[in-house]
Amino acid sequence: MAAKRDYYEILGVSRDASKDAIKKAYRKLAMKYHPDRNKSPDAEEKFKEISEAYGVLSDDTKRSQYDRWGHAGINGRYTQEDIFRNINFDDIFGDMGFGFGGFDSIFDMVFGGGSRRTRAGKTGPTRGSDLRVDIEITLEDAYKGLETKVSYKRQETCTTCSGSGAKPGTGQKTCPTCNGSGQVGYTKRTMFGQFTSVTTCDKCMGEGRIIENPCQRCYGNGVIQKTRKLTVKIPAGVDNGSRLRVHGEGDAGKKGGQPGDLYVVIHIKPHKIFVRDGTDLFCEVPITFPQAALGDQIEVPTLNGRAKMKIPPGTQSGTVFRLKGKGMPSLRGYGRGDEHVKIVVTTPKKLSRKEEKLYKELMELNGKKKTNQSLFSRVRSTLH
Ligand SMILES: [Zn+2]
Ligand SMILES: [Zn+2]
Repeated sequence: MAAKRDYYEILGVSRDASKDAIKKAYRKLAMKYHPDRNKSPDAEEKFKEISEAYGVLSDDTKRSQYDRWGHAGINGRYTQEDIFRNINFDDIFGDMGFGFGGFDSIFDMVFGGGSRRTRAGKTGPTRGSDLRVDIEITLEDAYKGLETKVSYKRQETCTTCSGSGAKPGTGQKTCPTCNGSGQVGYTKRTMFGQFTSVTTCDKCMGEGRIIENPCQRCYGNGVIQKTRKLTVKIPAGVDNGSRLRVHGEGDAGKKGGQPGDLYVVIHIKPHKIFVRDGTDLFCEVPITFPQAALGDQIEVPTLNGRAKMKIPPGTQSGTVFRLKGKGMPSLRGYGRGDEHVKIVVTTPKKLSRKEEKLYKELMELNGKKKTNQSLFSRVRSTLH
């Protein structure tokens, strides 16, 4: 095995870095190598490496052991899994659009599904899985907030057997394979001697008891798949990719375990007029040449009806005006963004007789000022 790299070096921090600096460095690297985002083959190894470094350096006890003894202070005491178990991934990735499902899914992703159940012995209550449902809303909905119905499939506790998996009126019996211990031991003879290992009993999955007569409705699973319809409240200010957690609306837990959560992931349809950046809105509004030259009061679109805006005389095409507070509400509940209106001065493509006459007069008038001519001669002189 190759020698392990220094944890500080892996995270690119100094040996006296603060906890905050370590967290920041890890977050940055984790975003780069998170297996959800980075599909290159060595990303997972890299993610494990930085997470192990973070797991040690973010824990006072482990960090001081590492500072004193190096890798030897860690290797003998903790497995990589132990180190991972103490990282609060929700705290690190909670507000990002990935790391979905929090700790369990990251753990399973890195160590392979089911690894939490490899320890031999009886399994206790299991928490239900987190579920995800995607919904698409308009920018107007995001501006105002809305209540909407979502429909999704989830596992619910079987009402016939109350989740026990046994046919009503029947019970469980001691597992004949492991005699109720939930574990089976086997002895292996090798040229180095005799080894005994203990693993979880396959027959009862470590329960020690098996169902005599399975419930006919859920086939002994204790849960059944059902369609759930739920009204969810989408707060004003949500953005594309926002995740809302609905507590306890995921899959039912097993053996009295807590249910998982439901995550509602928001997608916002592109808008005809507005482009959004955080809480700010951007749009373009066309005006005529006389409006630009003379100034005017115009009406501009906002997500809350029309607003009046003053165009000062001599406004150039491309000028951006800011309508304070006419942007999106903040998801935090206070403050609003601005609306940025970009003025586009349009050139008429067709002129009425009268307009043509007036424009000609205007041109003559401009000609007298000789602005064009003087500009022209200046250009010529620079060419020569
Ligand atoms: Zn049942
Ligand atoms: Zn058994």
